[in-house]
Amino acid sequence: MTLHFHNTLTRQIEEFAPIERGHVRLYTCGPTVYSFAHIGNFRAYVFEDLLRRSLRYVGYRVTQVMNLTDVDDKTIRGAQAAGVPLRDFTRPFTEAFFEDLRKLNIEAAERYPAATDHVPEMIALIERLFARGLAYRSEDGSVYFNVAKFPGYGRPAHIDLSGMRGGARVAQDEYEKESVGDFALWKAWDSADGEVAWDSPWGRGRPGWHIECSAMSMKYLGETFDLHTGGIDNLFPHHANETAQSEGATGKPFVKTWLHCAHLRVNGEKMSKSLGNFHTLRDLTAKGWSGREVRYVLVNGHYRQTLNFTFEALAGARAALARLDEFVDRLRSVAAGAVAGALPEWADAAAKAFEQAIADDLNLPEALAALFGAVREGNAALDANRLTAAQAAALDAMLTRCDGVLGLLNFGRAAPADDAPLPDDVRQLLDARAAARKARDWTQSDLLRDRLAAAGWEVRDTAGGQQVKRR
Ligand code: AMP
Ligand code: ZN
Repeated sequence: MTLHFHNTLTRQIEEFAPIERGHVRLYTCGPTVYSFAHIGNFRAYVFEDLLRRSLRYVGYRVTQVMNLTDVDDKTIRGAQAAGVPLRDFTRPFTEAFFEDLRKLNIEAAERYPAATDHVPEMIALIERLFARGLAYRSEDGSVYFNVAKFPGYGRPAHIDLSGMRGGARVAQDEYEKESVGDFALWKAWDSADGEVAWDSPWGRGRPGWHIECSAMSMKYLGETFDLHTGGIDNLFPHHANETAQSEGATGKPFVKTWLHCAHLRVNGEKMSKSLGNFHTLRDLTAKGWSGREVRYVLVNGHYRQTLNFTFEALAGARAALARLDEFVDRLRSVAAGAVAGALPEWADAAAKAFEQAIADDLNLPEALAALFGAVREGNAALDANRLTAAQAAALDAMLTRCDGVLGLLNFGRAAPADDAPLPDDVRQLLDARAAARKARDWTQSDLLRDRLAAAGWEVRDTAGGQQVKRR
């Protein structure tokens, strides 16, 4: 199985092979910890989790680094408004972020470096840019990257620089491509920064946002590494500036393959803090939705296509997961601990289609369709008592393998009802029905089934006897 990814840098679907045999180095831009992440942000992190899991599925060792932006314009503004030191302000949001990652079953990265712990590395990188004539100090003591001196500025964003005004500077971390210009590597302290400042060869100040990711990615992954990802809004200026800083300092290619996910939208608009149209994970869990259901919604879209968030989609996720759970329960009761045999042909074809879809630039909708096709076939086979224990065990193992990528099956599941002791009246009805069936009294059997249904229990007849669960 060979993975193929759409590389933003070349705008082509390319076959993926890591620089170092068997080992993939992946950098994923992390959260700015100035408030709770919203599920638009989590679309990006779930997409990166699918990427990471797919790489591991294929057998690669993955070293993933996700930074924590705990100093930038937004965190400083937030700390000022709250009247607390920067670290006290960012800590609860960092903790909440990790809690949300767990709720969404996002695998942990190997490292989560915080920007405030890496200021010396950023200063060293800026010094390298000075040495190469790419940085200059402005009147106020800030340091800027000289975009005009860096050939091909704009990669991987395909930015057309023809409209650029020579010598224009942007001090903010975030800006639109209409304001492209020299960007801040180091920001001289001003009173709005309060206590937040570090000493540097250029005076007291703080790093710009973009230099954080260049310094931390190269520290942990080397000067050239395999994969770098983020939401599409990170592409410009953040990833263009990261590339200019890193390649400007090292003279080497920074990243081989860039992947960007499209936005999560609400009513046709990007979900974002500034538009106020966002849901955090905790908002949704407070409304009774689970992390697992939210994960399903985020997984069930192609990462390069915008995904519209709706509560209907969450309800659909709930139904789809229930269907999956029910199937797994049925399989396990038929398998009853049997050793896995060969897969039925239709299941083998579904497994192959699943892999093909993943390999084809992480086509999750198609991968899920293959899986649900197998669920449909499997249920039909179970209904007809056509599935042997060994086949059921093989199917269970296949689903577990696929779930290595999906991360949907084995977390946050409500305990199956049949794990709990059955109420006595239900037990009695079941016993009576078993006796009726033994006597081939189908009318009585159906009557008892209806009585169980009225009491809220659904019965199925399997080769191993009656299976019951709460409706
Ligand atoms: P931030 O904390 O703003 O730096 O964003 C963290 C990550 O979330 C980045 O990779 C962004 O590109 C991504 N992101 C922000 N909003 C959305 C959205 N509505 N849909 C998908 N990704 C997003
Ligand atoms: Zn970044």
